[in-house]
Amino acid sequence: MTAPHTYITTTIPYVNARPHIGFALELVQADVLARHRRARGDRVRFQAGTDDNSLKNVLAAEAACVPVREFVDRNAEAFLALGDALSLTVDDVIRTSRDPRHRPGVERFWRASAQSGDLYRKQYEGRYCTGCEQFYTPAELDDGRCPEHDTVPQQVTEENWFFRLSRYAAPLREAITSGRLRIEPAGRRNEVLAFIDGGLADFSVSRPATRAGGWGIAVPGDPDQVIYVWFDALCNYVTALGYGEDGAGYRQWWANGDAAASRVHLAGKGVLRFHAVYWPAMLLSAGQPLPTAIVVHDYLTAGGRKISKSAGAPVSEPAALAAGYGADAVRWWLLREVPRVGDADFTVERLIARADDELANGLGNLVNRVVAMIHRYRAGRVPPRAEGSAVLPGGEDLATAVRRAGPDIDAALAEFDYRAAAAAVWAIADEANRFVNRIQPWVLAKAERAGTGQSADLDAALGALLGACQALGRELGPFLPDAAGRIAAQCTPGPDGRLPLPSPVFRRLAPRPAAGTPG
Ligand SMILES: [Zn+2]
Repeated sequence: MTAPHTYITTTIPYVNARPHIGFALELVQADVLARHRRARGDRVRFQAGTDDNSLKNVLAAEAACVPVREFVDRNAEAFLALGDALSLTVDDVIRTSRDPRHRPGVERFWRASAQSGDLYRKQYEGRYCTGCEQFYTPAELDDGRCPEHDTVPQQVTEENWFFRLSRYAAPLREAITSGRLRIEPAGRRNEVLAFIDGGLADFSVSRPATRAGGWGIAVPGDPDQVIYVWFDALCNYVTALGYGEDGAGYRQWWANGDAAASRVHLAGKGVLRFHAVYWPAMLLSAGQPLPTAIVVHDYLTAGGRKISKSAGAPVSEPAALAAGYGADAVRWWLLREVPRVGDADFTVERLIARADDELANGLGNLVNRVVAMIHRYRAGRVPPRAEGSAVLPGGEDLATAVRRAGPDIDAALAEFDYRAAAAAVWAIADEANRFVNRIQPWVLAKAERAGTGQSADLDAALGALLGACQALGRELGPFLPDAAGRIAAQCTPGPDGRLPLPSPVFRRLAPRPAAGTPG
């Protein structure tokens, strides 16, 4: 019996501009899930990439007067650099314009769909938003404007290849209602079911090569047409696994037939339909297994304004934020403040406040105090394991918080609720700080020195606190991997049996008056 396989993907963004904080949210969520599943024993593959073959890239490159290849490469680099900046454990990256695995996979997918009788040519007239790379019906527009971009879509008349989406309403509905294809949160599942029930229209899956400026993948057997960028891009989830040559990776991670395996796509609400309707229908058409879950996040705004890649607000560049404030602070803000449902507003002030309140003051100060007290009162030696901490005031609450963190994190992440999962870790720090303030180890130490108190009480208190800090080091791993390593190192005795001397786990980001720290 091998461990279950978990395959996790992020969407592959257009590289028409540099990445913004909204995409960092998706990357960090995927990374938490990947790290958590690995820690629990799954075999995990975390896949990311860039969507190079977009018409939008071509237009942006033209506007910048840079050759498309150079422009796309430059921006793709900025996206890939987020892996290090945000401490992501991405296992593999696919770039659709230059990855040798991609084109054969897309072509194979196209042929499989054609063989199922799902592709046909038709004259088409419609309103096309280049920003979305999508045709809109008049009913879907707000006053004639794209609901995502607030721009007037272009009127386009052309002959295209179409995909018979209309054929897949019933099987899609069945996959979703049976739970075989989870769409989370529930509101998004209902939205998809309503969309299916409203009737699925066939959609265009190619463009004239002339309109695409020759950029993209030619339709097999019809070189005057290039494959629609969404059809092309969605295929990345399997082409990266070697679907093109029916490789071992594809059979291991996607078509392994194991009911315990997970295939999880993370995606923003704006691309829900592509991931939860078009892509599963394409897979059904090609005779391939479906993803097991599509997890949809809402959007971030920055200072109350919609974040747009094209607007290029430098304040929300995740690599710059991580360089300035640390990956821990950026990750913590994204995980602690962004709700499972609903948009969240990002500002640097909020990032700093959250990091200083909870990381520097809450977590960092706790670990620092505990290690310092163990040095002061026990020469840095870990106190003997005592049963007595539960009878100290607050001891039982602390023990409960430590014991419940793991199961609570598991339960929250099973529902893809990152904020609830981060709250479960935070509960340990919160309870431990309360415990310190309640039992005041320095008072116990004074009594011990005066011969009026039990050494076992101080041992029990310090032991419980160190145990809580060690649990924090462990459970924080998926959320703040860098800090978790520093905390674990602070709480692990060296060869001499002593803890390392205390050093700050987090630096304070905003200057503020020093608070008195007893102990
Ligand atoms: Zn649009």
